[in-house]
Order: sequence, then structure tokens, then C-alpha cells
Amino acid sequence: MNEEADGKTPEDRPSWPPAEGNSTQMTQQPQHTHMPTTPQGAPVNQGFEYELPYELVQQGWKKFWSKRENRPYFWNKLTGESLWEMPVVKPQFDPITDPLGICHNAAPVAPLPQPAPIHIPLSVGKRRASDDLGGPQAKKFVLAGPWDLDVQTNVIILERPPCIFMHSHPEIEAYRCALLAKLRQCYQELCHSRESIDAPKDSFNRWLMERKVIDTGYDPLLPSNCYPEISLSMYKEIMNDIPIKLVRPKFTGDARKQLSRYAEAAKSIMESRNSEPESRKVVKWNVDETFQWLRKTVGATYDDFQDRLAHLKQQCQPHLTETVRVSVEGICLKIYNLSCEYAKKVREKSNSILKEHGMELPPHPFLSQTTRKVWCYPVQFAIGCPRLPVVEYVPDRDQAMLRFQGDALAINNTYLQKLEHLYRHNCFDDRKFELFIPRVWTMLKRYATFFGVNPSPGAANADVRDTQASLPVTVFECLNRAFGVSFECFASPLNCYFKQYCSAFADCDSYFGSRGSFLHLKAVSGSFAANPPYCEELMEASVNHMERLLNDSPEPLSFIVLMPDYREPTPTALLRLESSQFKRRQVTIPAYEHEFRHGFQHVLNRSELNVRSNHATVIVWLQNVSGHQRWEPTEERVNALLETFRPGRERERDRQELLSPTRQGSTSEKQDVLVH
Ligand code: SAH
Repeated sequence: MNEEADGKTPEDRPSWPPAEGNSTQMTQQPQHTHMPTTPQGAPVNQGFEYELPYELVQQGWKKFWSKRENRPYFWNKLTGESLWEMPVVKPQFDPITDPLGICHNAAPVAPLPQPAPIHIPLSVGKRRASDDLGGPQAKKFVLAGPWDLDVQTNVIILERPPCIFMHSHPEIEAYRCALLAKLRQCYQELCHSRESIDAPKDSFNRWLMERKVIDTGYDPLLPSNCYPEISLSMYKEIMNDIPIKLVRPKFTGDARKQLSRYAEAAKSIMESRNSEPESRKVVKWNVDETFQWLRKTVGATYDDFQDRLAHLKQQCQPHLTETVRVSVEGICLKIYNLSCEYAKKVREKSNSILKEHGMELPPHPFLSQTTRKVWCYPVQFAIGCPRLPVVEYVPDRDQAMLRFQGDALAINNTYLQKLEHLYRHNCFDDRKFELFIPRVWTMLKRYATFFGVNPSPGAANADVRDTQASLPVTVFECLNRAFGVSFECFASPLNCYFKQYCSAFADCDSYFGSRGSFLHLKAVSGSFAANPPYCEELMEASVNHMERLLNDSPEPLSFIVLMPDYREPTPTALLRLESSQFKRRQVTIPAYEHEFRHGFQHVLNRSELNVRSNHATVIVWLQNVSGHQRWEPTEERVNALLETFRPGRERERDRQELLSPTRQGSTSEKQDVLVH
């Protein structure tokens, strides 16, 4: 239902946040856009003004809450002016070269490169005289949940051009996600029909992440401009399961069965494909020999079967690989080409919607030559936001359902409130929250499609655990207190702890604080935690990126990197990390001696949230000289951090919080390890 169809003006409809217990439809007015102004104020933590850019605070602006209207307003104590909308930030001085702004008049900083959207000035409503002003008590937004969204960033970056993707749009997202689901299905069918295997588990998601490392295309999700077109990661994962997927057998009988299944499958591939006669001969000979051994050997042990399998594999695999190479490459190519085709379709549909609003997607990304340093601000868009369709909001006891065209997505209420806070902190084009619900739906839809499974309570999906699992809250608290960390290099609006972070999807996450992909973040200074998803190519590219940043900046810069200690098959990224010239310290936490928060934390019950890690985790401190001086991993600080990883610490923290809700953070860290 769109706005014309239901015949109501936006004012007639319930606004966000809705009255409790209401099932309500959220919609919005036509959003011709104004360009959001880049927030650049120095982050300060001075009570209630913290929500405004420092620059605005300096100009006399404060933010208050109108009880009557139930929304924030802005009042300037110097001029007496009051506004419903966030005042526009005027051009700023450079926080590094001119921290006090004293050279500001002499050499004004160039304004941000402005794209050419339709400029409709902000509808700045004058606040009526009211008793709100009588005793302006700042309304502090209290957030239930373990996050600390008050932590101000200490991250400074080189300014970047706005992103060329279209604003979140439920209809486009539904279309894109349907195509991605089709692509995933097609991948499964190809693996099945051509190689007689299931698509290797999670390999499609890893392919998406691997492609995004090199993709320069125009879709935020579907890879569409990658070179090489054949993904080595997808190729290797398929090849690894040919002729069959090998698993660690439980019992001796399983080991025996697996050996004979492998032999059968190897033989059948060589006979049914166009293999080299010599290769066929070698495989046949080894397979026959294995069957003879199986027939005549009585009482073989588990290890005997496993050794025999290793031997057979070593003999046959090179011949198998050569025989199926072209066909496996064909699968990778077909999936990539389909993805390009789908991305094109999404682009056409996006442009057809934008056209109705007199807009068009930019043909190619903007190049940025700027070396201006700014406080790290959320991703901004090059073009305006079109009118969005209605998304239904249905609250329930602990969860809410957001429904668009019959597609209902669930989210725990505390997480919806978290998103509301993130939106308030980071989104500048929708101060009335009229686009909030459609944007939440779009983001949830993107992640649900990216997960490839329906996130439902109790769903124990290992992949989502691996690619979306987050550090426990106790760890984040300590990272902040002991090492000044204020930024996650890898996160989503659902699993972030801080209100500033990088994420996989600049477009649908930016309203909730995302600074885009970590690989595009040109950080100059700041203290970061990096807990990347498990994808070798992304992890390796990230370490390379960190090294470049550390090399280029004399400002204090620090990355605390966490990686799973998988030494098989080739831990390229981990080896890169361990051998970095910027490494200051390394510790390993053994498997089962620490926990993560489940990747479905936004829909699970509290009791299902903490998951023991089945792998060891390596923590490495990468710091330049000044970063090391400022956030040195001393024995005491590192021990304090390890302590916060101990299983059960988060539950303990929750219990303490219940007993004493006003308590600030964990009490476990000693004062003397703190840096601020
Ligand atoms: N923020 C939590 C969870 C990290 S899980 C923590 O730091 O512990 C890894 C996250 O990285 C996932 O949410 C995944 O979607 C995101 N991600 C994937 N590719 C990314 C990229 N290129 N840049 C930033 N984040 C990315």
C-alpha cells in the first residue's frame, strides 16, 4: 500500500516509535532528498550534547526532547533560534591540522564534494513557544541491552566520495534477494548435476565475500565486476569435495565405508568423463588395489582405513582434478556470469523507480583525490532517497515482525530499540523516523539472504556462527577501557557493540552507523578491533590493508585483530598477520576456553546466545609507533583482556547488571590498566 492508496497524509499515520501494543503500518512522505551534511565534529562526551556534532555544540546548539510532541528539537543558546530538524553543519576546520579552528578563517577547508542530487531544502519547522523551553532537561535515551552506544569514536579518516548505490528500498531489495536466492539454488543444482556433490557448505557465502574483496561493480550484494572471473575460493572448495566430501568418521565402520565410497566415486568419474587414458589407468589400478585390500583384510583398525584413504587420495587426486578442471571452472564462471546478469536487472529496476523521481544512478563511482582528514562519519549517498513503500510493523511480546509483501522478518525488541538508537545517532535525512521501519526491513532482508538460512530461534547454523559471531560484551568493554577501542572493523547493525563500525553493506547499513567496507576505510588514526568473518581472501586483504594504513600514518593507529586458529588447509591470512612488521604482541586463547555471541543474536533467546568456541582464537596487536605508545599491550592489559574472554563472564555480567543496573560496565578490569 502506498501513500496515495491509503489516502492519508503522513501526519495521520502513527509515527515511530509506535504506542506500545499497537500493530501499525509505517509509511513515509515522499522523500525528495536533501544531502545529509557530513558530521565532522570532534567527539566529546559531555553529557547530553553528545548526540550533536561538536561543531554544532560549539555554535551554541543543544538537543532537547519535546514531551508534548514526543520528538527531539534543537535550540541555540546563543541566538535563541529553535528548530525541529537537525541544524545544518557549516564547513569545518581540519581536526588534525587545526584542532582549535584558529586557522579556519584564514584557510577554510574545502566543502565536501557534493554530487548533484535534487536539492530540496530541509523543511525547517519553527518550534512553537512552549513550556518545553522552560526547563530544558535533556532527554537521555536509555537503551536496554548490553551495547555502549555512547562511546565516541577516536577514528579519523581521509574523506571519501559518497556511495553510488541506491538508498534502501524494500521493493528493490525483495527483487535483489529473490535473484540471489535463485543464484544460490542454481549453484547447488550445478554442483549436483555436474559433479554429483552437494554445493560445499558455506562456500557460496564465502564466494560472495571473496568476490566483494575485488568487485568494483554497481550492486551492493551481487558481484558484477570482478577479475579474475573464476573465483579461486569457489573452485578450490568444489574441488575439495570431488569425488566425495570427506568427513572425519566416527567409528571404524564409517572409516571403512568412506574408503570404499571414495574408491567407487573416483572410478566412476574417470570412466564417465573425457579423461586422459594414462590417468584413467592409474586411478583404475589404485581403486582395484583398494578393493582387493578391502576384501582380503580382516580386522583392520580405524587408522588402517584412514591411512589407506590418504594413500588412495594422494595417488588419484591429481588425475581427478585434471579430469574435472574444465567442468568445475565452468560452474564458477556460470555463477559469476549469472550474478552479473542479475546485478544488471536490479540496476534497471532501480533506475526505473528512480526515474519516477527524476533521478538516476551514477554511471560509475566517484574518484576521490582528497587528503582531507575528518572524523569518521557514516557513509553518505550520492543520490536522493525515493519514496518508499509501506512496511507493516507488528509488535509482539519480545519480538517484532516487519512485513513487506507477505515477507515477515522477526527481530527481538531490544535489537529494534538498538537500531532506533543507532539511527538517531547516524541517520541525518529522516529525523522523523518515517523511513525507519522500511530501512530496518531492507537491512534484515539483506542479512537473511546473505545468511542463506531463515534466522529462527534455535537455528544452530555453523556458518552464521562463523561469519556473524561477535565477541562477548565483556571483551568489548575491556577493549574500550584498556586499549581505547571505539570502532569495529567488521560488524553489522545487528552485531555491533559500538555505534561506529564497518560492515559488508554500505547502503542498507549506513543509516545504522556503518562506515562501509573495511577495505575502503582510509583510517589515519584511532584504535580498532577487527574480528573478521571466516573468509581467507577477505582476512588476507584486511591484513594487507591494515599494514598499508599503519605504514602511511604517523598518527596513533592500532588494530587488535582476532582470527580463528585454523591451520588447515592453508592459513594464508593468519601467517600474514603473524609475520607483520607491525606486530607488537600475539596471544592465543585455546578452543573451548572462550565464547562468542551467536550470529543470530538478534532473534535468539538470551539463554542461547553464548556459544563455546570450537577453535582456538589468535589475537594480534598491529600498531605503528605512536599507536604503540598510546595503546601498548602491556602484560596487565592483555591479562585483563584474557580474563574477560573466560566462559560465563557475560552471563555473570548480566547477573550483576540485574542486581545493580546503574553499574557502569564490567568491574573486572582494574583501574590501573585503563587508558582513559
Ligand atoms: N562486530 C562483531 C562481529 C563480527 S562478525 C565483532 O567484532 O566481534 C564479522 C562481521 O563482518 C559480519 O557481520 C560480516 O557481515 C561483516 N563483514 C563482512 N564483510 C565485511 C567487510 N568487507 N567490511 C566490514 N565488515 C564486513
